Amino acid sequence: MPVHKTAAIVIRSRDYGEADRIVTFLSPDVGRLTAIAKGARKSKRRFLNSLEPFSRVSLIYTERPNRALGRIDNCELVSSYPGLRQDLQRLGVAACLSELAGEIVGTQENVPETFAALESGLNLLDQGLPPESLLCSFLFRFLALAGYGSRWQACLVCQQVPRGPLWFDIAQGGVICGACTTKASGRLYPLQVGTWKLLRLAQTLPLAKLSRLRFDPRAQKQCLGLAQGFIRHHWGRELRSFKFLEKISSPEA
Ligand SMILES: [Zn+2]
Repeated sequence: MPVHKTAAIVIRSRDYGEADRIVTFLSPDVGRLTAIAKGARKSKRRFLNSLEPFSRVSLIYTERPNRALGRIDNCELVSSYPGLRQDLQRLGVAACLSELAGEIVGTQENVPETFAALESGLNLLDQGLPPESLLCSFLFRFLALAGYGSRWQACLVCQQVPRGPLWFDIAQGGVICGACTTKASGRLYPLQVGTWKLLRLAQTLPLAKLSRLRFDPRAQKQCLGLAQGFIRHHWGRELRSFKFLEKISSPEA
């Protein structure tokens, strides 16, 4: 049976049966892969916390013919990103980034870029950057990697640099000037000029510079609303981790 070695990030992990764990990884070589860690809960020493979500690991696994799940032979922790585990907000954002990355690795071309973006996002969370602002910087970036890049530079209708008041067309994925809304067909959502500038940069800046962007609470609210509406419209469902993040961010929580 073929044995493989790869770098990976744990994006999901759950108990299975009496003693095992089923773990989903994102690997820059093969994309998303799910494998079983036999006896992981019986012998704590064998995997030493390396199967916890949002861990960067070095993985050795065996493909099993005619089985959906591979078998984890060895999983060594490279980084647990301890900083991001210090509060719920950062964990919530790590969950959003991981879920999104896991969802979008469809084609072989975008796999290394998606892995690099997730690794960079987790690193920045670990370093203590403001989590919600960071999430906004990465959201539309991930959507662009999935082939859903929005048009931020020019108005979808007049093709010019858009002039306020601005609107966002979720169905077409792009910005529209106030004066052009009469010629727009889809449902439009208001877009603050400040948020537009940030989102435009978030989609085009080199990955290493994304950490420079700062979304204030108002821009965060707008960006999250647009991203959720966008995913709902194009994928027909919500991300689980968005709901978790909303729950821990609400004042009642
Ligand atoms: Zn226009």
